[in-house]
Amino acid sequence: MSQRTLMMVGAHPDDESIIGGTLARYAAQGARVIVVAATRGEAGTIFDPTAATPENIAQVREQELRCACQVLGAEPPYILACADGAVQLCEETALEPLVRLVRQEHPDVVITFGPDGIYGHPDHVAVSRLTTRAWHLAGDPTAFPAHFAEGLAPFQPARLFYFGLSQSMVQRWRQYAELKVELKGQLLEFAGIPDEQITLSLDNSPYLEQKLRAWACHRSQANPNAPRQQMPEEEQRRFMAIEHFVLAAGVPLDPPRQGCDLFAGLG
Ligand SMILES: [Zn+2]
Repeated sequence: MSQRTLMMVGAHPDDESIIGGTLARYAAQGARVIVVAATRGEAGTIFDPTAATPENIAQVREQELRCACQVLGAEPPYILACADGAVQLCEETALEPLVRLVRQEHPDVVITFGPDGIYGHPDHVAVSRLTTRAWHLAGDPTAFPAHFAEGLAPFQPARLFYFGLSQSMVQRWRQYAELKVELKGQLLEFAGIPDEQITLSLDNSPYLEQKLRAWACHRSQANPNAPRQQMPEEEQRRFMAIEHFVLAAGVPLDPPRQGCDLFAGLG
């Protein structure tokens, strides 16, 4: 079996840690894990003023992302040059570089946010659309033919998954915290993916400590009042350990028969 490659496309430095258990799991199993962030996260709130200033926030967050990738066993990350808070404005310009990355890196499986963006963050929703288009175009011999002159070839990844929270998980969480995030005066809500739409859920408990260490890299973003912190410790660990996926495109899979594996049946 050839080495597997998993590509995760997020909007901001720290999005990779949302799904850090899965990244650590596959890196530990010997897969190449490639993280792509659409932005440097320069619009993020600085929660720890000793970690960053408004002047150096982009560089700091890029470093924090590098730190998290290293902790998770992923390769050094790629950053597409979208502006934080405006990924929807670069969906066209970021498409070519993302298709190029897919053609260069040959991921078997690509994972990104679902259309709900977990809590409707417009950048997460935009990166979901962008990645979905790139997944479909990378294998299209009529898309970005200039790549072929550079020696790249069309490449179709086998699967595209969306990650997110399950609705039942969000309901349990709501007992402890008000699940609303304010973004530019707008209140965004966590909804969760209906449980019956989830293709597979990975229990990444063995990689939880690694995931927490990856989160800890994002020192400038450490919000002591994050809604997650309001859950009891045990519940919080369970919440962090289980990561959910919906198969969005590609080779069908049957988790009850094939086991819980994003690469199941891909040979
Ligand atoms: Zn984000």
